[in-house]
Amino acid sequence: MQVSRIQFLFTFVVALTIALFLHNPVGAVQLNPTVLVDIRSINPRIALDIRYATTNNFVKQKLYPEARCILRAAAAQQLSQVQTALEAQGLGLKVYDCYRPLAIQRALWAIKPDDRFVANPAYGSRHNRGMAVDLTLVDRAGNELPMPTGFDDFSDRASRSYKNLPANVLKNRQTLEDAMVKAGFIPLSTEWWHFDAKGWQNYAIRDIPFSTIPSTALNNSTAK
Ligand SMILES: [Zn+2]
Repeated sequence: MQVSRIQFLFTFVVALTIALFLHNPVGAVQLNPTVLVDIRSINPRIALDIRYATTNNFVKQKLYPEARCILRAAAAQQLSQVQTALEAQGLGLKVYDCYRPLAIQRALWAIKPDDRFVANPAYGSRHNRGMAVDLTLVDRAGNELPMPTGFDDFSDRASRSYKNLPANVLKNRQTLEDAMVKAGFIPLSTEWWHFDAKGWQNYAIRDIPFSTIPSTALNNSTAK
């Protein structure tokens, strides 16, 4: 009797351990949605061309110390879903800009103090909240698909309502928009490349420098 009780208890403990493991296997990090994470730690297959880390941008100045796409975990995980969905169509994402610390927003404003081109740092940008992303589509070989304009082109042609474009360009713009909307992003009407993650209003403006944000998500699961 005593032996069978011990056996029962042992079987129960083993079953419970297996159940707990299946519920949260090793490596499946439960991220706080508000934490700022590097997209590479969430989905390294998303291509990067972080323009403000180069001089290839509309102010022709390097403003970011590092070419990294940092987002709130909530937005990063949604973006990873978009990448996975696009891969099934032989496509992928290439990101131009993600989180932008407020100090860099101020630097950008100092160069171009015009709210037609730059968000006034007094109010901040959705990029300052880590809940906005600028991006385009690439094919399997990493080539950018033709889009209405280049990144940060402030002409009418960049607007989503601009229709006087070749059929393949209209299709590419729509493919990107459909994939992003399906994962919960909101398109900006004036810029085909810009999307906000839903609920961006609930995330405060941040001024945390890139250098303090870990490149791996594993030790990054506490709220900021
Ligand atoms: Zn943007």
